[in-house]
Order: sequence, then structure tokens, then C-alpha cells
Amino acid sequence: MQRQSGWRSKSKQDIKAIYDFSERYKDFLDRAKTEREAVRCITEALTGSGFDLDPSQERVFAVNRNKTVMAFVRGSSDIIEGLNVVVAHIDAPRLDLKQNPLYEDVDLALLRTHYYGGIKKYQWVACPLAIHGVVIKADGRTVDICIGEGGDDPVFMIDDLLPHLSHRTQDGKKLSEAIEGEKLIVLFGSLPLAGTEKEPVKQYILKMLEDKYGMTEDDFITAELEVVPAFKARDVGLDRSMIGAYGQDDRASAYPLLEAICRVKGPRRNCLAIFADKEEIGSEGSTGIQSYFLKVFLDDIVNGMGLKADESVIRKVLYDSKALSADVNGAVNPTFQEVHEKQNASYLGRGICLTKFTGHRGKTGASDANAEYVAEVVRLFNDTGIVWQTGELGRVDEGGGGTVAKHLAVYGMDIIDCGPALLAMHSPYEISSKLDIYECYRAFSAFYAV
Ligand code: MN
Ligand code: MN
Repeated sequence: MQRQSGWRSKSKQDIKAIYDFSERYKDFLDRAKTEREAVRCITEALTGSGFDLDPSQERVFAVNRNKTVMAFVRGSSDIIEGLNVVVAHIDAPRLDLKQNPLYEDVDLALLRTHYYGGIKKYQWVACPLAIHGVVIKADGRTVDICIGEGGDDPVFMIDDLLPHLSHRTQDGKKLSEAIEGEKLIVLFGSLPLAGTEKEPVKQYILKMLEDKYGMTEDDFITAELEVVPAFKARDVGLDRSMIGAYGQDDRASAYPLLEAICRVKGPRRNCLAIFADKEEIGSEGSTGIQSYFLKVFLDDIVNGMGLKADESVIRKVLYDSKALSADVNGAVNPTFQEVHEKQNASYLGRGICLTKFTGHRGKTGASDANAEYVAEVVRLFNDTGIVWQTGELGRVDEGGGGTVAKHLAVYGMDIIDCGPALLAMHSPYEISSKLDIYECYRAFSAFYAV
């Protein structure tokens, strides 16, 4: 089996299309750093492409609690024959502010955080950070907050120990323990409020929050404020062939999926795109893929067609569906090649990566796609000229991971993981290949066109 860089098969014209697509993708990355912002961008694009909240229409979407979106395009075949589903997620690893985050110490105002998802904590110190999210006021009003993204905005950071003094405290520790979760404390201010004796720096910050956002200290309790890297998406490499940005797991699948579903016109099979929340912490909760929202949405769709959406109909629709679980994989790292088994690893720039199974220690927790379905997807990719590769996440027993696949496989549908391979996955600055992102878009489009 010979695989090579996908760029070798691309013409000058193809490369231009790939680079043009990347400009739109980078714009999405900058505008959608949180799940709520992603929902806003996605619903804007869907509305612009003729999607409607009315479930009797041919193009329908629905939003669950500002954190999950589903979009449906009616096909010419009977819905009872099942759907073609592509699911990606729009949450990303980050630091959430605690519910009582603010305090003052050594003349500094500081914010306590609780990290969300799998991060390497040492990667979050000594770099510029932004704060995004919402505050729900006592009267029910929502105040949107986004600080650190405008060119003139201040940013925040988490202090690290200077090398001169880290010898005893930090240097001899394991990498995973050198920065503890409770030490991920955000530097938030240092000006004291004039005429105040007790906690003057904290009081100054509280006064600013009141003046700027009408917010009190108690309002942190009813807020969701996410600390994310303040960098913008940028081209990487002298040849600009790669993209560096925060949150590419899984915007690297979600954005190609958005473009694909927006462009679906008159499909044979009924098509569904899911932009899910909470994947990074197990897909649970009211906005995770395990919630009943999928069934509620399908009830509305089936009823909207004038059919009766009883439980057995919805069960049959889901059972006969075919799905791509679109999520990223870890590309072979040039400097740590030993964690990969290179004959079965994914490589940056070799196209969309099909992953038959995930899991850890003997495939535990994996949704292992049936060979018959793998063959069906491979045939589709080959027939439509998609650049694809196959790859598993790391050597046997090296570690592992999971995706939403198993939560949809519960319904008995065919489902396989696929998506772009990233370098520095789950870091504040993940790297993708422009070609891989574009091949995801082409692959999802081909899947919907079956
Ligand atoms: Mn993911
Ligand atoms: Mn992830």
C-alpha cells in the first residue's frame, strides 16, 4: 500500500481552490472560538442558505440551548429509508472561570479557573488569553462578553515560574504535575481603587465590571466565561500550506461540514448535519450528543412531512441511517514518531483520515465500524476522487481516545470516524493542512450526494 502527500495530485487550480477555502475557514476560526459563538456563525450561514426553523420546510435547522445545531435537507427518497448523517463537535478544550473566581493577592486581581477537556496544563501559561462568554443577569438578561480579540483589547495571561527560581519547586516534577490545575489562575488587573483599604485592586475590577457590563461579583455564579487563547488563525509555513489556530478540534470538521450542508441541493437521501457540544467531556449533558435533542428534532421533521412520528418510526429512521463521525486525528509528529505505528498512522496533508475504531487498551470504548460499511465509504471516496488515508490514534496501548461515534452507533446505524489529522492536537495552537480541511469538505459533500 503506497500513500503519499495529497498535494502531489493537485493542480494549480485545485491549490487555489484549497487556499480560497482556507481563508473562509480561518475567518470562522476567529469568529467561533466557543460553542456559543460557533452556533451563532453556523445559524447565520444556514439562514443565508435558505434553512428555516419551520420543520415542514425542505431545509430545516434547530438550535439546542445555544450550544448545539442540527440542520436537515429533505431528500427525494422516503425518510424511513434513513438519513445520511455527518456529525462534528463545536466545543474545544479550554479553561472555564469558576463560579466564584475573583480574588486579590499580592496587589493583583486574579481569576480562578477549572479546565474543560483534555489539556496539557503547561501549554496554557505565559501566553496571551481572551475571555469569551455570557453573563445571565438576575432579571434574565444575557450580557455577551468577549475581551481580548479586538486589535486594541487587553489580553490576560497565566503566570509561570521564572527558570531562575523553578529548580526546586517545578523542574524535577513530572510534566503533568509541574503546573497543577489549581495554579491555572488568570491575571486580571493591578490598579487599586482610590480611597479603598480592603482589597482595593479587586474593588477596582468590580467597579469596571459594573460600569462596562452592569455586572456584580454575584453575577459570576450565573455566567459561562471561557478562557481561550487570544491568537488569531494564521497561515503556517513559508508556503502557507498549513493553518495554526486554537479550536481546530473540531472546527476542522465542523466548518467543512457547514459548507457542505449549506450547498446540498435536491439530494436523493435525506441529509442531516449535527454540530454537537460537550464531546470533549464525554458527550453528556443536555447539549451533548447523548441528549434526546436528536430524537426531538427528528420528531419535528417527520411530523413536518405529514407523517406520524411515533417511537418505532424514529427508531427505524435512525437504524437505517449512515453516518460519518467527523473528528480530528493525531498526525504523525515529526519529533515524537515513536508514539505512532507508522504503517497505520495518519499524516498531515494526505487527505481525510478514515479511522475504523478508536478506544484504548484493546479497543475498549470504541465504535468499531463494520468492514462492509468501511468498504462502502472507501468506494465512495475512490469513485469521487477524494484524497483519503487510513489511520489509528497512536501505537497499541500508547494511549487512546473516543469520539461521538459510539453514541450514534447505539441506534444501530452504520458509522465511521473520519476527519483531518492535526499536529499539536488539543494544544492552544493546533496545526492542520489546508488540503486535509478541503478534502473533508469534498468528502462530506460526496457523502450527501449519494
Ligand atoms: Mn474532537
Ligand atoms: Mn478532542
